[in-house]
Amino acid sequence: MNGKSEAKTDAPVLQQDVDLTGLNTMRVSATAQQFVDVKNKQHLVELFKSGFFERHTPIILGGGSNLLLVGDPQSPVLKISIGGVKIDDIGNGHVLMKAGAGENWHGLVVQAVEKGYGGIENLALIPGTAGAAPIQNIGAYGVELQDCFEELTAFDTSTGTFETFKRADCQFAYRDSMFKNNQRGVYIICDLTLRLRSKNHRLVTGYKALSDYLDRENIHQPTIRDICNAVVAIRRSKLPDPADIGNAGSFFKNPVISAKRYRKLKHEVPELPSYKLDSGDYKLPAAWLIDQAGWKGKQVGNVGSYENQALVLVNHGGATGREIYAHAMRIRDSVQERFGVDLNPEVNIIGEL
Ligand SMILES: Cc1cc2nc3c(=O)[nH]c(=O)nc-3n(C[C@H](O)[C@H](O)[C@H](O)COP(=O)(O)OP(=O)(O)OC[C@H]3O[C@@H](n4cnc5c(N)ncnc54)[C@H](O)[C@@H]3O)c2cc1C
Repeated sequence: MNGKSEAKTDAPVLQQDVDLTGLNTMRVSATAQQFVDVKNKQHLVELFKSGFFERHTPIILGGGSNLLLVGDPQSPVLKISIGGVKIDDIGNGHVLMKAGAGENWHGLVVQAVEKGYGGIENLALIPGTAGAAPIQNIGAYGVELQDCFEELTAFDTSTGTFETFKRADCQFAYRDSMFKNNQRGVYIICDLTLRLRSKNHRLVTGYKALSDYLDRENIHQPTIRDICNAVVAIRRSKLPDPADIGNAGSFFKNPVISAKRYRKLKHEVPELPSYKLDSGDYKLPAAWLIDQAGWKGKQVGNVGSYENQALVLVNHGGATGREIYAHAMRIRDSVQERFGVDLNPEVNIIGEL
């Protein structure tokens, strides 16, 4: 992988002792003993040929905005930087936007909006890469990735081949897909194709914070650009910028409970907010539960819950991954004690606890 001849063919370069502090938005300090910056699909093929995937189960890194490193990774880290964006007009008012996995997600949203292509404007300003977007079926303001997902190409680390996955293959669900569960670690996503509309946009403005914002700004017939701008403004007003304070967005998923369990809890806690799902189950806002348990704005050592959004754990400086994890578990335990509801991390925990 390292020799002179390989360098000529742009072979993947195995780096030693790479500092990951700037490569995770929690700003946790950690060192990768082995690290490869994967810049193209051929790099994955070369790694496979060298037996790399037989020897290792690597940690896959995108923008590092949805993971918590607890300790130094014991496996090599593959940072996926595959770039490139291609847009095809397929007629009937639709375009396909294909992006390399390493492309910045928000950059794609901006490009789409500027070209008048609608579908992802509600997903503006979500940090991270295109390749990670399908992993947890990113979602915000009433839209999920799966709503405009066409297909993705992934490298199968067990066979060394590339496979195409359509929407029905991916088992998308709320902040979930098969790549986060049973197929975790098997596939490396190399590119993502979105189906966007070039006309007859389907605007999603029902989300309360978004409709309130548009009303306040007297925008009654919003364009996709208006929605993108509104989402950016709302997010900036309530979420901490990882450039200012380390965080990984929402730490926990919103818990889903059965109708029977919900009725009992609602009786005990009449003010409990909820959202009824088509399945008949109820989704509860984790931020509200955490707030009620007294954690909003609270700091313990170097870790805290963000003052404007209880669901976001922040690194006030120098926190270790284990400290952040311990804080998250304190929050989980107190919500369980108070409401009998289990919180599960949305953030991927990387390393041995
Ligand atoms: C301030 C803030 C706000 C956020 N808001 C939202 C939000 O509104 N909605 C939302 O859904 N998320 C949100 N997130 C979470 C995060 O931005 C998304 O989950 C994003 O898709 C993560 O992208 P990433 O490239 O940083 O992934 P990483 O954190 O690098 O990786 C996340 C997971 O995906 C795996 N992975 C990454 N790239 C690949 C690949 N190419 N192939 C296979 N596996 C891969 C990693 O191994 C890891 O398990 C927010 C995060 C922050 C910090």
